[in-house]
Amino acid sequence: MKFKLLKKEIKDFKGKVFWDESLKKLNSFKVGGVARVLIFPQDETELSLLLKSVGKLDIPYFILGDGSNVLLPDDVYEGAIINVSNFKELKVLGVRSPEGDLTPVYVGAGLSKQMLLFWSVQNGYAGCEFLAGVPGQIGGGLFMNAGTHLGDFSKIVKEVYLMDPDGTKRSVKVTPSDFGYRSQKFCKPGVRSHGDLTPIILGATLNLRKGDPLKLKAIVTKMIQERKSKQPLKIPNCGSTFKNPPGNSAGKLIEAAGLKGFQIGGAMVSMTHANFIENVGNAKSLDILNLISHVKKRVKEVQGIELEEEVIVVR
Ligand SMILES: Cc1cc2nc3c(=O)[nH]c(=O)nc-3n(C[C@H](O)[C@H](O)[C@H](O)COP(=O)(O)OP(=O)(O)OC[C@H]3O[C@@H](n4cnc5c(N)ncnc54)[C@H](O)[C@@H]3O)c2cc1C
Repeated sequence: MKFKLLKKEIKDFKGKVFWDESLKKLNSFKVGGVARVLIFPQDETELSLLLKSVGKLDIPYFILGDGSNVLLPDDVYEGAIINVSNFKELKVLGVRSPEGDLTPVYVGAGLSKQMLLFWSVQNGYAGCEFLAGVPGQIGGGLFMNAGTHLGDFSKIVKEVYLMDPDGTKRSVKVTPSDFGYRSQKFCKPGVRSHGDLTPIILGATLNLRKGDPLKLKAIVTKMIQERKSKQPLKIPNCGSTFKNPPGNSAGKLIEAAGLKGFQIGGAMVSMTHANFIENVGNAKSLDILNLISHVKKRVKEVQGIELEEEVIVVR
């Protein structure tokens, strides 16, 4: 009934709406059941209307980027999955920052990180090199404070634009202290369940430095080559499953516990990189969850260290 009413409320949306859509297409693990409804609002006005409608109808929502850091459920997600991939704006703002050679650049949450990286290298803006080879949208990257050994979003973000669950917009000026390791303070981080609603990231202003396109290209090319040799990029996975414990490497701990190649159902600890779980053939989300639990238990038994999931588990 709720979904019938929602259908009526959003019938004039220009953005695409899909009913009973397979979740498998929506995440890099290639697992999951069905989304009751998947909505790509065309713009902020549609997003605001949508949030008001789902709020009124008491329909939970989950904001999904490119699904490269989520474990979606095997059954039906009884809510709305919202994707802001239409929010792709990329604009150099006219005003130079008072900090000197920094240029403020607006990026929409739906833009892909690799598009931003490509643009920044081409146009001689330094600061985004840490994104080389990191999949997903800017919104997912900001939520996760995604990064590599070259840095993370905390180093370049100046302001974040959000839409609250009641459909109102606001902006938050941020500093590196508003971010942590794969976390931030402006959206509630971590595992979210139905009905646990969080603000949606609309975009951000980044502070980028002047850089030499040739030097930037060399850094990015090297990073991508290194990643290709160390990560199982051809098999469905979601990158690092666990956060690195302070001063340690989750991959090394898992390998030392003898878990490389350990398999439950269609989910296997990667032979290439032990912190990656691969979907080696029709894995269920439950196989991956069970494998995560097993890895945590064994690493705790063998090394006495508690691993914490980096992947966001959607229940
Ligand atoms: C092969 C591979 C390599 C990877 N390497 C790295 C790496 O080197 N470093 C790294 O940090 N990560 C890495 N990842 C993980 C992942 O790519 C990043 O976390 C990425 O930033 C997630 O972006 P996404 O659009 O896919 O987000 P999703 O996976 O779709 O979502 C992740 C979280 O962000 C939230 N979210 C997404 N968009 C928004 C929004 N607009 N507003 C509010 N919340 C939002 C979601 O609700 C969810 O909680 C890798 C993944 C893969 C598959």
